[in-house]
Amino acid sequence: MTLTVLMNAGPWLPVPPPGYGGIENVVATLVPELRRLGVRVVLASVGSSTLPCDERVGVFAEGQFGALQRPYNQVCGVAQAHLAGVVRQLHARDDIDLVHDHVEAVGLAMLTAMGPGAPPVLHTLHWDLGKHPELYGGLDGGARVRVNGVSAAQLARAPRALREHSVGHVHLATPLATEAHRRPPVVKGEHVLVLGRVNPGKGQDLAARLAHRVGFRLVLAGPVGPYHRPAELAAAGAEARQNPDVRFFHDEVAPYVDGDRVRWIGTVAGRDRDDLLATARATLFPLRWEEPGGTAVVESLALGTPVVALARGCLPELVEHGRTGLLTGDEAELGDLVLAADLLEPDECRREAAARFTPAVMARRYAALYERVRRSDAAV
Ligand code: UDP
Repeated sequence: MTLTVLMNAGPWLPVPPPGYGGIENVVATLVPELRRLGVRVVLASVGSSTLPCDERVGVFAEGQFGALQRPYNQVCGVAQAHLAGVVRQLHARDDIDLVHDHVEAVGLAMLTAMGPGAPPVLHTLHWDLGKHPELYGGLDGGARVRVNGVSAAQLARAPRALREHSVGHVHLATPLATEAHRRPPVVKGEHVLVLGRVNPGKGQDLAARLAHRVGFRLVLAGPVGPYHRPAELAAAGAEARQNPDVRFFHDEVAPYVDGDRVRWIGTVAGRDRDDLLATARATLFPLRWEEPGGTAVVESLALGTPVVALARGCLPELVEHGRTGLLTGDEAELGDLVLAADLLEPDECRREAAARFTPAVMARRYAALYERVRRSDAAV
């Protein structure tokens, strides 16, 4: 029997997303492989999504990213409208075997309230909930909702009410990992790369200070708040500083950006991003938060670039110290580790990614979780 899954990617961005987009990227990576396994996918997202699927449902024609604020449960208007549309769909049909939901607490609360006629739900956690336990405060223990994490570390930090409903974790994947071990080696450049949103949690300030102290070339790639290019940020008025990430950049990172030793190049995408990653000596993750899933980590490994990081969140699950990267709990050691990363083998990183972080591996894991959720639901 064919399994039909309603995949709820939410109302924020089209799938695949045009640039940055965490949840939407995960959905875009997962769906083609699930369909290859024979799963029928009904995609609940916005009208401008172009990801091939078996059917599309939704409420909004375009992505509503501009309405997104954190914490999510204070901005329910748009998410609720989207979810209400999805729930109406669910009530009107009986061919959906399972909902795979990626919208945060709002979605979960509404799906939880759908009642006994609704299909079971697998909800994927995408955020670090140790910091935001209030997001899921409304989940009640008797729900027919199961949750999974994107790492064991993330699940371990989640509120107990969620952990009690957990069916395990599935690491993030990247299409770059498919056949990664067969790609020819790339000549490494001089730079160390930090790839990600500029944000205190990602630690670009620490990386920049380290580059000057230890003496390596550092490239910072990623948006600063809503600004994707240095020229856009330079042209923005003083009110731009109301954004905390813009303030962080100006106060803590920019003083070290000299255009030589340390550069901020804005957001990179597509081939440029991949080339920058593949030619980096190492990627650096001087994290101040408990990284929940680490897409940039698995992308780095897939392109043969070792990871140097503070051992926080999912990092020890994704990176093997001494083989695919170097991890430490001590900030003071990071500089030495960056220099030592040249000793690691790019091939080992690519082999690891090809074995563990492909979309096919992720889809098989999810297909197994769907079975588990349906079995445990049948037993309720
Ligand atoms: N990214 C990108 N260009 C940039 C900065 C980041 O394409 O300039 C991508 C990066 O390759 C990864 C995603 O944005 O796919 C960030 O996901 P991750 O899980 O690493 O961090 P998050 O921002 O979701 O915490």
